[in-house]
Amino acid sequence: MLKRNDYFDIGQKVNNWIQNYLENIESLPVRSQVKPGDIYGKLDATAPIEGEPFDKILADLNEHILPGITHWQHPNFHAYFPANASVESMMAENIVSAIGSQCMLWETSPVAAEMEQRMMEWLRDAIGLPKEMEGVIQDTASTATLVAILCAREKATNFKSKTDGVPPGLRVYASKDTHSSIDKAVAIAGIGTKNMVHIPVDENRAMDVIALQKAITKDKEQGLQPIAVVATFGSTSTLALDDLHAIAKVCNEEKIWFHIDAAYAGSALILEEYKHLITGVEGIDSFVFNPHKWLFMQFDCSAYFVRDVDTLIRSFEILPEYLKTKNRGIVNDYRDWGIQLGRRFRALKIWFVFRSYGLEGMKTRLREHIRLREYFDQQICGTGKYQLATPSQMSVSTFTLVPKTMDLDIENERNIKLLHHVNDRGKIYLTKTKINGKIILRMVISQTYVAKRHIDLAVEELHEYYE
Ligand SMILES: *Cc1c(COP(=O)(O)O)cnc(C)c1O
Repeated sequence: MLKRNDYFDIGQKVNNWIQNYLENIESLPVRSQVKPGDIYGKLDATAPIEGEPFDKILADLNEHILPGITHWQHPNFHAYFPANASVESMMAENIVSAIGSQCMLWETSPVAAEMEQRMMEWLRDAIGLPKEMEGVIQDTASTATLVAILCAREKATNFKSKTDGVPPGLRVYASKDTHSSIDKAVAIAGIGTKNMVHIPVDENRAMDVIALQKAITKDKEQGLQPIAVVATFGSTSTLALDDLHAIAKVCNEEKIWFHIDAAYAGSALILEEYKHLITGVEGIDSFVFNPHKWLFMQFDCSAYFVRDVDTLIRSFEILPEYLKTKNRGIVNDYRDWGIQLGRRFRALKIWFVFRSYGLEGMKTRLREHIRLREYFDQQICGTGKYQLATPSQMSVSTFTLVPKTMDLDIENERNIKLLHHVNDRGKIYLTKTKINGKIILRMVISQTYVAKRHIDLAVEELHEYYE
């Protein structure tokens, strides 16, 4: 066991390890190449009885652990959506881990609460949400959406679901392409997934708002109770953007909770060229986006905004004696703003990133990502080997091999084979999705330090492939 002062010695070693890791990350395979069970088998079956030297632990880290990492900070990571870190954010997280505070109440670290309040204002204003909205950091968009659905449920049932249980027939609406976390939230909230209504999408894969209105009217006629609509601003499959203005109109007229899931694409709202998509959208009840996906603030950092904080707190507050403090009611006790009691000091990395990038620096990086996506599209489509599958959006393209047959199964098979081939080579990492039964590949360009040469490598890898 190390003494606290040993930090000066091992801290240096760990810092060197981190520096070395980041310097050499491009030489590592992006997606881990281990087989299931490889790492488990290398870890001793029983816990050590005696402590071991720290150097030995570090040596094992390199030899046995590193091969099991999929490198999310690798600039050739184009899979899923990124968990996008920056050096500044990593350093802030190091400091937070040294401080090690648990920030459930204002009193348990006033700066965590007050900085969180201020940072959420910075983020809110940066993406152009109305000033009356207030924010809280959640771990993930899934949690934030669950919070939104729970608030919608409480508001619609006059805060009776909390005490009496959930009445049957509450209805939630989202597009067919919405994220699976909405279904999960509806299930957990006791509303029942059969009351999750998936609205058809139009040719751009955005929610068909006329169909939404029809579904709501029909449900009401049948005695069901519409409680929430979730708009998807940037779907996970293709980054499709629901029309927020049109959906807002329906929600305002019907007096239904309006939640926006902008997990990835929300970051782009800091750019003037996308502001019109949110400007003038009225009556947003809640909004979530993940700065940890596309704003250089390390996972986890999900920004959740609400218009009516009272409803939020009323839905979540419980107050045993040991949590009553002198300043209650004067300050924000964020434990009342969500599900868990214990909270990390997550605002510090937001402050570090804002301070070091500035809003202009963030915009420049985002625009560069979008420009690289346009470049990718040109490179990939130029040769007759590949074609775009859906209209590219912001920093995301979807594509397939140019079909050789009319047979969907054969074509799906060809594209899956290609995907496994490039991911097994380890130089780049892509993932897929399925639209109308068709497998399509996704290219996401938003790793913090991605540059043109990384896109050139991706294009090279894809063109190298012959079947
Ligand atoms: C990534 C994503 C989510 C889920 O994000 P978590 O923060 O991992 O829960 C939800 N919705 C959309 C549109 C996403 O892209």
